[in-house]
Amino acid sequence: MAISGKAKLAAVMGWPVGHSLSPRLHGFWIERYRIDAAYVPLAVRPEDFEAALRMLPRLGFAGANVTLPHKEAALGACDSVDRGARRVGAVNTVVVKENGRLHGFNTDGFGFVENLKAALPGWTAAKGPAVVVGAGGAARAVVAALVDGGAPEVRLVNRTRGRAEALAAEIGAPVATVDWRRRGQALAGAALLVNATTLGMTGAAALDLALDALPADAVVTDVVYVPPRTPLLEAAGGRGNPTVDGLGMLLHQARPGFAAWFGVEPEVTDALRAFVREGLSRR
Ligand code: NAP
Repeated sequence: MAISGKAKLAAVMGWPVGHSLSPRLHGFWIERYRIDAAYVPLAVRPEDFEAALRMLPRLGFAGANVTLPHKEAALGACDSVDRGARRVGAVNTVVVKENGRLHGFNTDGFGFVENLKAALPGWTAAKGPAVVVGAGGAARAVVAALVDGGAPEVRLVNRTRGRAEALAAEIGAPVATVDWRRRGQALAGAALLVNATTLGMTGAAALDLALDALPADAVVTDVVYVPPRTPLLEAAGGRGNPTVDGLGMLLHQARPGFAAWFGVEPEVTDALRAFVREGLSRR
């Protein structure tokens, strides 16, 4: 769709940014809803990030997504940041307010929960204990979202235990750490298993986790989305557990930014999923 001189603008800022799926994703929605808008990739070096971000209002942008390596820097560069982003320690979405000030938030936890709800109607974090593997940025968002969603217990397992302990201490009850060597036993009685590490990504080793103790009805999900069907999801699906892939999390986490910049609540549909998957396979 051709844009006019009044087109609304948004961007993704990263370094590098060429691998980002966000222009494809938001571009799909812009076409789908026939909005006079453009969403562009901005390759911004770390040393230029703050100045580039501060220019967004002056250039007429409605806002931006922020990706690696700028997510933590964005926390300090925005005029205001919501509690969720502070808790996660990273901003991935920025909105230019009417007064030109920059408001930052983090939509990963929202995307994680919405993906599970969309895939498994009736799913709630309150259903039972969750096991989260990992203690990096993605795990922080997942753990916070599970606690906010009413999870009665979150068992946090990470190779580097100190990192898991720091996260558990920050978020508090009902998060408790489990030693990496006992990760298999931690699955007993769990209602949800989440891989929030980089393991299982194309080019990385698979997550080494015996699923024998996992109840047959426990939901298994992954934050990794390249490939969408990770070895963990294949193994869990093979033994009959319901599985939900990480690509949906990526699609759902984009919704709040699009709605704030362009004024339309976008939907995650099979057509969007297929379009983004096609982009992934071309990378
Ligand atoms: P990160 O901050 O670098 O954390 C990496 C995590 O993986 C840490 O817990 C690390 O453990 C663990 N890990 C790495 N290599 C390991 C190994 N060989 N053995 C055991 N554990 C290992 O990364 P992140 O930002 O959280 O990202 C994690 C994944 O989430 C990435 O694949 C990213 O693309 C994905 N992600 C997806 C979405 C989505 O929308 N689907 C959103 C955000 C992120 P240590 O602490 O011991 O190093």
